[in-house]
Amino acid sequence: MCGIVGYVGKKNCVNYVLDGLKHLEYRGYDSAGIALFENDEVKIIKKCGKLDELIKYINSTKKIESNCAIGHTRWATHGKPSDLNSHPHRQNKVTVVHNGIIENYEELKEILKEKGYCFKTQTDTEVVAALLDYYYEGDPIKAIEKLTEKLDGSYSLGILFSDIKDTVYGTRKNSPLIVGVGENENFLASDIPAIIKNTKKYIVLEKGEIAILKKDSLKIVDFSGKEKEKKILTIDWDIEAAEKNGFPHFMLKEIFEQPQVIKKCFRTRLLEDDVDFEIKNLPDEKIKQIKKIHIVACGTAMHAGLVGKNILEKLVRIPVEVEVASEFRYKNPILNKDDLVILISQSGETADTLAALRLAKERNVFTLAIVNVVSSSIARESDSVLYTWAGPEISVASTKAYSVQLACLYLLTLKFAKIFKTIEKEKLKEYCKFLNKIPDVVNDVLKLNDKIKELAKIFYNNKNMFYIGRGLDQCLALEGSLKLKELSYIHSEAYAAGELKHGPISLIEEKTPVVAILTQTNLSLKTISNIKEVIARGADVLLIYNDEKNIDSSLLEYSIKLPKTIDLFSPLYSIIPLQLFAYHIAVFKKCDVDKPRNLAKSVTVE
Ligand code: GLU
Repeated sequence: MCGIVGYVGKKNCVNYVLDGLKHLEYRGYDSAGIALFENDEVKIIKKCGKLDELIKYINSTKKIESNCAIGHTRWATHGKPSDLNSHPHRQNKVTVVHNGIIENYEELKEILKEKGYCFKTQTDTEVVAALLDYYYEGDPIKAIEKLTEKLDGSYSLGILFSDIKDTVYGTRKNSPLIVGVGENENFLASDIPAIIKNTKKYIVLEKGEIAILKKDSLKIVDFSGKEKEKKILTIDWDIEAAEKNGFPHFMLKEIFEQPQVIKKCFRTRLLEDDVDFEIKNLPDEKIKQIKKIHIVACGTAMHAGLVGKNILEKLVRIPVEVEVASEFRYKNPILNKDDLVILISQSGETADTLAALRLAKERNVFTLAIVNVVSSSIARESDSVLYTWAGPEISVASTKAYSVQLACLYLLTLKFAKIFKTIEKEKLKEYCKFLNKIPDVVNDVLKLNDKIKELAKIFYNNKNMFYIGRGLDQCLALEGSLKLKELSYIHSEAYAAGELKHGPISLIEEKTPVVAILTQTNLSLKTISNIKEVIARGADVLLIYNDEKNIDSSLLEYSIKLPKTIDLFSPLYSIIPLQLFAYHIAVFKKCDVDKPRNLAKSVTVE
């Protein structure tokens, strides 16, 4: 959360920084700000609200001439969104932008007040500026070293020292920061989309390192000032991936990208009738020893984990626990040496998931990450990683990342089933052949978009909604419900269909909307009974189903028919109507689809 950008080069920095921030707005949009060198002075311009407010303001003022700046787009953690609390924050010679949380800021603030510092904001970040200024006596490296010794919590920082002209400093701990390597210009950013227009070369900054960016030099040093040899990585996707390409929203574009990204995720791992891929550091012999799997993740990734549990238990007959990362890390989980911990995160920077990974590693349990962003913290620190290869996901509400997380879990399940010999050869062949068809099936389901839009128009005016299903359909109900509430602010609950009668059914009244998912043959009759129970109490049911059998007209007033395939694989395409339904409802409600209120992507705070 929070996006940091820095630029130093020959050109006017304002457009670079604003454009970089535009591409990081998915990380937070409570406020935006920029600090730049103009006529040897550091000037700060910041505005509460989305980045456009800042852009409008800058465009209405005198043209700025500057070649060096840092910028920030905020997701407030300490201090409400306001002009004053917006970043950058300045104390005397030091100006900073910050991503993360300083846990001991109150204690530090008191100490700094005694030393004569005054604070104007409620943020934790202003304390960073003051403390760094306190330590700064002309040597930025020494001052940053001392600063980091005192800070508890997480941070990535972009820093300007007012007496060191045209130089941007960067450092980090537990929040991401990369350095874009250009020609006669260099960039600092929280994530790749901010730099990809200008360079494809980048360096991942690590804890204990400081980046020093000037227009014609770039150094990464450790705290003793010694220069470090760093690997320059190349971004392997194009700028188009970070643009809307004609779609009205990133979310819709990303929903429609799902057939391609699933195909890409399968490529090199799925053969015509077999699965064939290595998990680095985890040979088959070691896999055979696994007694229990823990899947740890947050939000949508956790919902993908629930599907993973279902299919792993079904096909491999191995016990799987799915845990929300923020709970797992504080509950002293029971971990044994033969367990496997799978961590799922789109960004690879999710703070709670990263902490869970570190906990599992401390306990010497093998960790496997399913991650989208290459070289992210979780990818680097886990024992092994399965990349999902979805390309950048910009919309805050996750769609394509979820689908490829599922794709990886299906591949993993089939691989494990092979190793544990819990699947017959013929079955494996049949399943692999079918998996190869999934991108086409997803494509077919996407053709239902217009129909789903019509249904969304009927349902969008509701204040509450329920999602129900059994088995794998319950996992989808949870994800469908999350998409709806995060995008459209409609209160929504998801239940195992059989649970309704134990309490929640009391909330069903005339016209209460219930989205029922019905794709699991063996559970179908039971779910149909539950659907009839809510219809009998006046509910308006939207049925998402894939088989006419046992469906009578009373169930079909509002419905979406999906292709009938193998039940075990239905989540890979049944999720599409749920994503589209939530999307269109949010559009009808005039919500900011790509930037839902209070949310941000890449949750780097606890
Ligand atoms: N803690 C800082 C603030 O509230 C940065 C927040 C973040 O990185 O999400 O301004």
